[in-house]
Amino acid sequence: MRVVTLSDGERLTQADLNRTGGTLPAEVISSAEKIVDEVRARGDAAVREFCLRFDGACPDAFRVPDELLAGAADLVDPAFLAALTRARDQIRAFHERELEQSWFTTRPDGTLLGVQVTPVASAAVYVPGGRAQYPSTVLMDTIPAKVAGVGRVVMLTPPQADGTLSAYTLAAAALAGVDEVYAVGGAQAIAAAAYGTESVPAVDKIVGPGNAYVAAAKRYVSGDVGIDMVAGPSEVCVLADATADPVVVAADLMAQAEHDPLASCYLVTCDADLPDRVLDAVGRLVAQSPRADITRASLDDRGVVVVAPTLEAAVDAVNVIAPEHLELHCADALGLLGKVRNAGAIFVGAWSSEPLGDYVAGPNHTLPTGGTARFSNPLGVYDFQKRSSVICYTSEGLLADAPAVQTIAQSEGLWAHALSVGLRRRLAEAGRERH
Ligand code: NAD
Repeated sequence: MRVVTLSDGERLTQADLNRTGGTLPAEVISSAEKIVDEVRARGDAAVREFCLRFDGACPDAFRVPDELLAGAADLVDPAFLAALTRARDQIRAFHERELEQSWFTTRPDGTLLGVQVTPVASAAVYVPGGRAQYPSTVLMDTIPAKVAGVGRVVMLTPPQADGTLSAYTLAAAALAGVDEVYAVGGAQAIAAAAYGTESVPAVDKIVGPGNAYVAAAKRYVSGDVGIDMVAGPSEVCVLADATADPVVVAADLMAQAEHDPLASCYLVTCDADLPDRVLDAVGRLVAQSPRADITRASLDDRGVVVVAPTLEAAVDAVNVIAPEHLELHCADALGLLGKVRNAGAIFVGAWSSEPLGDYVAGPNHTLPTGGTARFSNPLGVYDFQKRSSVICYTSEGLLADAPAVQTIAQSEGLWAHALSVGLRRRLAEAGRERH
């Protein structure tokens, strides 16, 4: 890990972080855009071609039979099913609190104003499946949609080499309440969900992580269909003081590094002795890891240690990093919470291991990466809800507001705007005189 030592009054900069992991290569963008255009033009035939080319197998029908989905839970290990059920229940309970309600207010003249909240009609959840299975992602991305009341939630995921889907992914889909499952992956899946094909119906919103082809395709179709975010490689930042356990901190950095050689791990501390103790522990633990190569590549190439002169300066560095995951290993971790402005998820205190949040705690594990926590949110129920403003005037309200509208409309040169309220104003005045 590279060490950056901040002097008194010096602030961490983006250049210190050397963050390039989220940039999509030009050849990937061009390839993903061609795939999307082909699927948009030629539908299922193009999906089938790309499926065979990139996954090596293609099912006869993309849609997984409902009976297979309904029976998937019977095919998996009961301990896995129990763990997933616990995760499902806790994720659902948390997300139910995010549900936004419509609201209305009435002015003294009887005019009603408000916001009507409605779910999107349909959503697609992309679940990566190229090199690993992600049943936890199925839960995290589907449950907020179901809590929001989305009518049709479909899941798309690449077929395995034999053209089928893993029973674990299907069991998670059944448990989460997915309505339809399609064995299609990559950019072709995103195109099919965005524009529809003969066998895959178009949806209003597409969410979920994926590799660079999936990310490039999501960015390309965005605007024609809603998307959640274009997520980059995973990140963790551990903020630790002298009370932190270096072995636990080492394990937590490694838990992120083992995801991907592009994953970024940051250790920020005001204790100048801690980094060496953590790095010693990493050296010992990594030798035991079956994912040692990935872990070392991530920590060596992308890991950064920031040594700050004070705890306040360390917290400021954390806000500059704006990490996807932040762990607070400090004596008064809860007391620091209010000082953290930028982080996707904040794990407070030494008991709050980040993998708890990956799987079972309840909050969503789809989080803003690459510093975008400065302005964006975890995936949530609100991603599947939209708001319509409601404006319902009485004649009294119209009479009160019409002169202001006419004045502003005239200044903007919009004659018919002034006419629209002017006509009503005369009608309302006539009505008032009759009574
Ligand atoms: P994936 O499903 O995203 O991608 C597999 C698909 O990529 C294939 O079906 C194929 O269609 C397409 N593809 C592969 N090579 C291609 C090529 N040369 N040209 C065009 N298309 C091609 O699965 P993956 O590859 O295993 O990637 C999963 C990613 O998702 C990983 O980076 C992982 O870290 C990430 N992930 C993130 C989270 C999260 O919550 N942030 C969760 C799970 C996975």
